[in-house]
Amino acid sequence: MSRVIVALSGGMASAWCAHWALETWGKEQVVLYFNDTKWEDADLYRFLDDLEDHFGVKIVKDSDGRNPEEVFNDQHLMGNSRIAICSRVLKAERLQKYYGDGDILVFGIDKSEEHRAVRITQVYADVSVKRKKKCQVFFPLIDQGIEKWQVRDWLKSTGIRQPRLYDMGFAHNNCAGGCVRAGKKHWNHLLKNLPEVFAERERMETEFRFSYPNATILKDETLEQFRNRMEEKDVQPELWTEEDKAVVECVGICDVLT
Ligand code: SF4
Repeated sequence: MSRVIVALSGGMASAWCAHWALETWGKEQVVLYFNDTKWEDADLYRFLDDLEDHFGVKIVKDSDGRNPEEVFNDQHLMGNSRIAICSRVLKAERLQKYYGDGDILVFGIDKSEEHRAVRITQVYADVSVKRKKKCQVFFPLIDQGIEKWQVRDWLKSTGIRQPRLYDMGFAHNNCAGGCVRAGKKHWNHLLKNLPEVFAERERMETEFRFSYPNATILKDETLEQFRNRMEEKDVQPELWTEEDKAVVECVGICDVLT
């Protein structure tokens, strides 16, 4: 029997997809699959535990044991919005190895990221050929026309508390809000709301630059420079570009082939 693998990110959208998959196929066929980056917020694990209790299904927690910083050091490459090597190694490649011939993969991509669904469909068509194991990909939030408020209402109906990052105004619950792919608006939000996570990412970047002085997470400055500018109020948020405003959900769907 083929499996239905739901790629859980630790966020609400993929949790709704788990609910949908279990209603559609049942517990025997559905696998709830989570890639642990070891950078996650502690409350993400509470959320996963609550989902396990609610669904009565054990979540598969997959990891190669490294966090993104260890991947950057091993690959001699700093992840950023242009090269999401961490997402590729810790999520996409692992899922692409994990699924079996004939499996169905379910992703929590919503209508606002429909272009990514098109790309993911193509990537997994190519992976199917390269790895000689077919799969189907489903995007139930798009297919069922589910809006964010419906996801929130569903979660409320379960009695499960949403991950605390949403309470703090983050759009996703990935890597404790300290995602190397995020734009400057997001980093500013992180600095204001979780300064300890910002400080940790800044430390990582500073240490990495001892060996690779040109490496930066942001396109045109270091996190330290950005923080100094924010603290000196030397930033005009109204001038931020679309790139600065970028927020990307990280659910193991990098457009890479391995
Ligand atoms: S959330 Fe960001 S930092 Fe974490 S694995 Fe994904 S791309 Fe990398």
